[in-house]
Amino acid sequence: MKTSHFPLSTTKEFPKDAEIVSHQLMIKSGMIRRLTSGLYTWAPLGLRVLSKVENVVREEMNKAGALELLMPFVQPAELWQESGRWDKFGKQLLTFKDRHDKDYCLGPTHEEVVTDYARQELKSYRQLPVNFYQIQWKFRDEIRPRFGVMRSREFLMKDAYSFHIDSASLEKEYQNMYNAYCAIFDRLQLEYRAVLADSGAIGGDRSQEFHVLADSGEDAIVISNGSTYAANIERAETHRGEKYAAPTQAFEKVATPNARSVEDVAKQLNVPTSQITKTLIVHGVDGNLLAICLRGDHSLNEVKAENFKDIASPLRFATDAEIIEKLGVSPGSIGPVNLPIPVLFDHALYSSSDFICGANDNGFHYVGVNFERDLPLAETFDLRNIEEGDVSPDGQGTVRFIRGIEVGHIFQLGNKYSQAMNASVVNENGEQTFMEMGCYGIGVSRIVASAIEQSHDDKGIIWPDAMAPFQLSLIPMNYHKSDMVKELTDKLYAEFMARGVEVLLEDRDIRPGNAFNDHELVGIPHRLVIGERGLKNNELEYKGRKDAESTFISVDSAVEFVMDQLK
Ligand code: ATP
Ligand code: MG
Repeated sequence: MKTSHFPLSTTKEFPKDAEIVSHQLMIKSGMIRRLTSGLYTWAPLGLRVLSKVENVVREEMNKAGALELLMPFVQPAELWQESGRWDKFGKQLLTFKDRHDKDYCLGPTHEEVVTDYARQELKSYRQLPVNFYQIQWKFRDEIRPRFGVMRSREFLMKDAYSFHIDSASLEKEYQNMYNAYCAIFDRLQLEYRAVLADSGAIGGDRSQEFHVLADSGEDAIVISNGSTYAANIERAETHRGEKYAAPTQAFEKVATPNARSVEDVAKQLNVPTSQITKTLIVHGVDGNLLAICLRGDHSLNEVKAENFKDIASPLRFATDAEIIEKLGVSPGSIGPVNLPIPVLFDHALYSSSDFICGANDNGFHYVGVNFERDLPLAETFDLRNIEEGDVSPDGQGTVRFIRGIEVGHIFQLGNKYSQAMNASVVNENGEQTFMEMGCYGIGVSRIVASAIEQSHDDKGIIWPDAMAPFQLSLIPMNYHKSDMVKELTDKLYAEFMARGVEVLLEDRDIRPGNAFNDHELVGIPHRLVIGERGLKNNELEYKGRKDAESTFISVDSAVEFVMDQLK
């Protein structure tokens, strides 16, 4: 391609709503243009990148044995009524009527359509297992479309759906898809992690998300330094620590006037907040109150609390008035010693000794509190948010927090859809059996933005080779004035084209500085500069997009040199 024909529509301007660097660079480089909220046109440059990602995904899915099909973007309401999601999916589902007054939606996902297809095509266990996939546009009327194609309303997804006679077969395909996803993200040269998206149960891998690691990511992830463990922060389990040490202090009641918070008490008594046990009062399932005790520097995980059998869901904290009425003490002075309601201790407290807690007497705390001697400890529970430095939930290493962008999701659906939509096959014994299903999504268009988040500098995008819109820039100096330069440039262009290299020749009559800026902004990984001065020494200038300096190479070896870099 030549830039005289293939426009580099770069611009210095970007809209105010472009908060993250990938959005800014996709606009500045001319990859996408906004139509309206959450809807973008993929310009020729952007589409080249999107297609690269699409092809890698397609190749690896084919290699993994999945079969490509293509299902309609518009879906009839009846299918969604059958699955029960017509009313449940919420406002993300964009619905409309046709001329016959029949209801439809734009497909946000395709479980219903694929299950309808499968129940017609699949009759016998002999046809299983099978995995159908498509690469298709989806529409979700996102409440807050933002970050360009990162969270758009229309986006390109690879969605696959597998069908099985039993859960063992599903488990096997789930693992197969896991491996295919790793192959895809490896080939795209992304730094990523597979993250447990389930309720955090160790070894529970019924659902995993693949996240590209980037500071701008919307999701918080906890990872271990001692294993491949990774999970959504809200879902990561915490461990019970070592057993508490023997008491070294006497149990005493001390005045803590006007102390309302853990920080106030820590300051007054000159101890770290971790030495204090805080007590939160919540509503239980039976209408009574319950106390939750946590280490002073820890925070309650509301999802874990809510899932706890004795605690009311949704979680409701007792008001100050309720606490004073039922316990006769103000919230700042509550503690677990002789508290007349059930107390749930967090796992971390199992390691606490000589701690401080409210004395259930306004303006007083106990110090030197120890289990067994001063209060009983029957059991501890996982009730708090994991913290950086904690032991990894799988017991190997310690954890730290990072941010991620969800680019893929694999999920074992079981027979949720097949049962609701009556998709069954005959099994070996001639009985009708609902099929087990798995579903596997990849955000193809989101991957493009994620790659930029991960790899850019102040000049622009730095594409991994696998995604670059062009592999090589040929930038001649004085192409329109120097015959010598033009002749060699045209020859090199023809040679690279013949070798199948995706080369972009800069043949616009523009200043060299502007040409360099454009090609760097667009992120083309390799560049060859042809100038008269160099040619007099029989030299060309090569520079990789990530290189700090240029390399001078002889004209004769230029093609081979570049081919080596492209490998
Ligand atoms: P999110 O939590 O980011 O909203 P999701 O869990 O709803 O995503 P899935 O239903 O698992 O998404 O869809 C599969 C993949 O499609 C996601 O992993 C993500 O990469 C991509 N995706 C989902 N919503 C969008 C969107 N609005 N814009 C771009 N890509 C999206
Ligand atoms: Mg998801």
